[in-house]
Amino acid sequence: MMLVFEHLDFTLVGHLRGLLEADGIPCEVRNEAASFMAGEVPFTQVFPELWIADDRDATRARAIIRDFREQMDAKTSNEDWTCAKCGEVVDGNFAECWNCGAPSPEG
Ligand SMILES: [Zn+2]
Repeated sequence: MMLVFEHLDFTLVGHLRGLLEADGIPCEVRNEAASFMAGEVPFTQVFPELWIADDRDATRARAIIRDFREQMDAKTSNEDWTCAKCGEVVDGNFAECWNCGAPSPEG
């Protein structure tokens, strides 16, 4: 067994398990219930973890996880946008203009 990924968000860990299994890599999630206890115990002890059954799959598993994380980062690191209505520069994480409420041009 080898630990290949851990994250506070259980749905993310579960999603990655699905990706690995789809690629023929046997794996399991540990600490599944952990995220419910977050706040009561130190984070490092409660992260849901993704383990692969066979260490020889580690290179392949890490490549899949790396691709996934790059996609995730691309989605979350939105660039700032300029409101077409009032001209205000809005942080890329907002879907609406904080100043006038107009929607982002990206939707
Ligand atoms: Zn605006």
